[in-house]
Amino acid sequence: MTTQSARTPSDAKEKKVWDVAVIGGGAAGMMAAGVAAAAGASVVLLEKNPGLGKKLLITGGGRCNVTNAEFDTRVLLAKFNSRGKKTDQFLFSPFAKHGVEETLAFFNDRGMPTKIEANKRVFPESNSAQSVWDVLNTYIEEGRVKVIPGIKVLNIAQKDGHISYVELANQQRVLAHSYIFATGGKSRPETGSTGDGFDWLRVLGHEVKEPDASLVPLTLKDSWTKALAGVSLPSIALTMLQNNKKYGKRTGGMVFTHQGISGPAVLNSSNDVGELLKYGPVSLSLDLLPGIALDALDVQLRASFEEDSNKKVRNVVSKIIPASLADVVFEKLEMNGDMPCHTVNRAQRIALGHTIKGIEMNVHGLLGVEKAIVTSGGVVLTEIDFRSMRSKLIDNLFVVGDLLNIDRPSGGYSLQLCWTTGTVAGLSAAEAAKAHKTH
Ligand SMILES: Cc1cc2nc3c(=O)[nH]c(=O)nc-3n(C[C@H](O)[C@H](O)[C@H](O)COP(=O)(O)OP(=O)(O)OC[C@H]3O[C@@H](n4cnc5c(N)ncnc54)[C@H](O)[C@@H]3O)c2cc1C
Repeated sequence: MTTQSARTPSDAKEKKVWDVAVIGGGAAGMMAAGVAAAAGASVVLLEKNPGLGKKLLITGGGRCNVTNAEFDTRVLLAKFNSRGKKTDQFLFSPFAKHGVEETLAFFNDRGMPTKIEANKRVFPESNSAQSVWDVLNTYIEEGRVKVIPGIKVLNIAQKDGHISYVELANQQRVLAHSYIFATGGKSRPETGSTGDGFDWLRVLGHEVKEPDASLVPLTLKDSWTKALAGVSLPSIALTMLQNNKKYGKRTGGMVFTHQGISGPAVLNSSNDVGELLKYGPVSLSLDLLPGIALDALDVQLRASFEEDSNKKVRNVVSKIIPASLADVVFEKLEMNGDMPCHTVNRAQRIALGHTIKGIEMNVHGLLGVEKAIVTSGGVVLTEIDFRSMRSKLIDNLFVVGDLLNIDRPSGGYSLQLCWTTGTVAGLSAAEAAKAHKTH
């Protein structure tokens, strides 16, 4: 992409001047377009895919973790950072205007009930990301947003710190008073997020940190994990280790994949694992029962073995942990799972407990940016006025969603950031257009 010096509007093939042009019809762009239209602006939404919200539809494994039910804004904002630095001073203002409560009200009031699951993750009651998409789509239809799908925005024309028009791949120009960039980051490019907005922002003079995988699945060296592909563990703990030293623990869900492991606990450890890998091999200790201490587990195993003394130890252990993992535990211990429980001695039982609470896995690496859930990187925060999401360099430009250099864990925080920044930008862009027209 290149920016071009502005030609006069009389050259333009498309003469209509919209109040607001939103580029990118993902979560943040759909929200921004709907809000701007609801505020009375004429809005055009430009999306290169044939349909809107392709990534939104695959969020949360197709269930869409729509936000995180943390209502204490300070606690919520502590989850966000920009390359390790706090972001409260930027995010407090937009979150005061549209935070978690407003997000829940937005979707609930539009006929999408929600439910709260572990770690305050909020999902639609329907368990379907389609419900979220439907609400947003109805919202933009009600606002009579003009959606132009299936055509890529190629160029941004700017003059003297002001965008004059954007040019589509079919050479059509789209003119507007305000422009909202909502083209997302670089993760999962097959959904349309190919980093175009980063290039435009750079050419417009913004500093953009190089995108880097932030929440990514891990690949493992251990071949035994391959047979478990698809096995999901809803509540485990993972401790990161290097040279026998512990480097933090993450709890939550985990799923075995063909290449290794994924799921919230894994994604949330990927940043740290990536850092540690720079210094040498990293291993993970998988605790299958983080809610029960080792001593208590031993008591439980002893009681179970006494109760089912003639049963095979494998069958009894499989009542406590998934059967496929029980096989792994016995293999690791080189213990015969077919032995009757009454023949298991104390040392074997204690070793069982230790292994259930600490299966070793060895990290091979991180899957690349293209497989990331979120990419870190983006426009530096000091160059955006977060009260409006307006660029401090380009007076009619607003920037939202994954284009911002903000890291956050898995848990609904990414989409909340889209709802918040999309809403604030939509309102501000509509207001700016109104002000421009009345002058
Ligand atoms: C597999 C997966 C699961 C996830 N699950 C969750 C979850 O459950 N909860 C959560 O909070 N977050 C989740 N995330 C993160 C979340 O999806 C993103 O943070 C969010 O979608 C970012 O929204 P966005 O609008 O900024 O960008 P995107 O959703 O990336 O949308 C950008 C849009 O811009 C369009 N575009 C790009 N370039 C152009 C161009 N040149 N011209 C026209 N259009 C263009 C793209 O086609 C795309 O539609 C998940 C991410 C992934 C990959």
